[in-house]
Amino acid sequence: MKLILFGPPGAGKGTQAARIEARYNLAHLSTGDMLRAAVRAGTSVGLQAKEIMDAGRLVPDDVTVGVVKDRIERDDCHDGFVLDGFPRTFSQAKALDAMLHEKGTRIDAVVFIDVDDDVLVERILKRAAESPGGPRADDNEATLRARLAVYREHTKPVLPFYEGQGIVHHVDGMAPIDAVSTTIFGVLDPLR
Ligand code: ADP
Repeated sequence: MKLILFGPPGAGKGTQAARIEARYNLAHLSTGDMLRAAVRAGTSVGLQAKEIMDAGRLVPDDVTVGVVKDRIERDDCHDGFVLDGFPRTFSQAKALDAMLHEKGTRIDAVVFIDVDDDVLVERILKRAAESPGGPRADDNEATLRARLAVYREHTKPVLPFYEGQGIVHHVDGMAPIDAVSTTIFGVLDPLR
């Protein structure tokens, strides 16, 4: 199964992706995690990404597409993967499409976890306050507002591209975490 978890920052994509990964034995590809690892490792990708991420803006498409392209080639992705945080722009979606087309495959489903803006702000600020190692550099109110604006302007408009393919499943991300998982499994179980 090749999946995309789609939704605003703070929707719970990371949490649900981990559960999906475990249930269906898929590779979990979080571009946010991959970029943060690159920042920690001080690679050229990390150096390019750090300031942009701290400001809540989008890392250039060629960088994220390159990161995903390398990752998707690895053996653990052969039987399937769940993308979390990618694609975030129309051009990333087109690049992903081309990448998969080359391999003779395609995305099976897009799970759209939707959450209202005011709930997102509340959640992320709570996550920042409770984070044991200190908050993520981009989990503060100013950056979060920027991330939400970027989501509305660049990412949300990607959804119709997948809706046109009839593969989008809407999930209410304001339900309790376990209920969200149950709904998602209800959608994905028949696809495996
Ligand atoms: P969240 O979904 O909570 O905003 P992520 O961990 O997915 O957090 O992403 C953190 C940051 O990493 C983003 O704000 C952005 O700067 C960068 N990033 C992650 N994925 C992408 C992507 N596909 N394209 C561009 N930038 C990205």
